[in-house]
Amino acid sequence: MNRLRQASLLSVVAAVLLSVTCAHPSLAADRRGSRPAQAGFSLRPPFNGTYRLTALFDHRYPNYALDGEITAYTGESVPNGSPHYYQGHSGVDWSMPVGTRILAAADGVVEVAYRTRNPDGADGPYGVIVVLRHSNNYRTLYAHLLTHTVQVGSFVSAGQVIGLSGNTGRSSGPHLHFGVYLGPCWDETRKRIYELNATDPFGWRGSYPDPLLAKPGGPRHMASCLWRSYDEDSVSCADTIVEDGGQGFSAAMEWRISDRGHGSHMHYHTITTTNKVTATWLATTTLGGAYKVYAFIPSRLATARQATYRILTANGWVQRTVNQQEHSDVWVPLGTYWLQPRQALVTLSANTGEPPASQRWVAADAIKFRSYLVFIPIITCCDGSSDLTEEANRPEP
Ligand SMILES: [Zn+2]
Repeated sequence: MNRLRQASLLSVVAAVLLSVTCAHPSLAADRRGSRPAQAGFSLRPPFNGTYRLTALFDHRYPNYALDGEITAYTGESVPNGSPHYYQGHSGVDWSMPVGTRILAAADGVVEVAYRTRNPDGADGPYGVIVVLRHSNNYRTLYAHLLTHTVQVGSFVSAGQVIGLSGNTGRSSGPHLHFGVYLGPCWDETRKRIYELNATDPFGWRGSYPDPLLAKPGGPRHMASCLWRSYDEDSVSCADTIVEDGGQGFSAAMEWRISDRGHGSHMHYHTITTTNKVTATWLATTTLGGAYKVYAFIPSRLATARQATYRILTANGWVQRTVNQQEHSDVWVPLGTYWLQPRQALVTLSANTGEPPASQRWVAADAIKFRSYLVFIPIITCCDGSSDLTEEANRPEP
């Protein structure tokens, strides 16, 4: 499509969207064809469904050294001891029950599949691991597994089961540690991971050079977001996530805090009748345009039946009510909207309109804004049975 036509189409789309106030939560569509971050190589999530993300990658020396600083892929400097991050963490962690099927994130060849041991014979820190070798010199690591179901040397396709998640090695609870490496991953002689080759599949969004570029002894690269970003994937390059307790989040009045939620963090409050107990999520790094907005509903302490989220759209405020009790550790779509630049804003009140009950809780966890650049709704009606299709593309660099 030529630039002029695209520009005029976008303005038509904008006008259509602005005139439609009944944006429907079922706008989900196929995002296949989204531009992979790096030509020839992209990753699917290493599991089906959604699990709680518990730790991200530390861009400042991802080698577990205690240098006192953690840098998130957003460029934020994260306080030491934050529950969202580990010092020097070289991968991404998702909490999941032991026995969850773990899938190859891309086509590849099995390089390592066994219970790792230190040179002294003790269990290695990563427990049972699988390492896959992919194109473009990438490797993926799946650690703390209960068991692997593939053999060294065999070829696996993206999405193939390679093992079951576990809690082996140095692990504080059942979870998957997923690592991506640019270059070799496993040093068979020294029985250890080449942590200096670690990269972040979420890429780098900081406004200054990625600290990985200055990593002594490492491949000195800038991380690119590698997720293939299909619409049905729970992890994507198109996402901007505002964690409760993170930058952009604010809570009015006394909310309680638990480590159960997305990013090992959630706020919760009893249902009240005052409007003063509110939570607010604001992303100021987003461009203007169409976004699908999601709320993460944790599996515990989320029992409000009428949690009402308010979303600030280019056309004013829109409300979506969610029965939190019906959802368990999933991203619940709140609809797709045209948002103003640097003003992706959602609020939630603990006044849900339900009868106050001491054991009923409103949960405020992460909010996710998933961007669409080209968005073509074909709207036939607005009664909830709308037949909507859309075409989505990643923004051009
Ligand atoms: Zn980990």
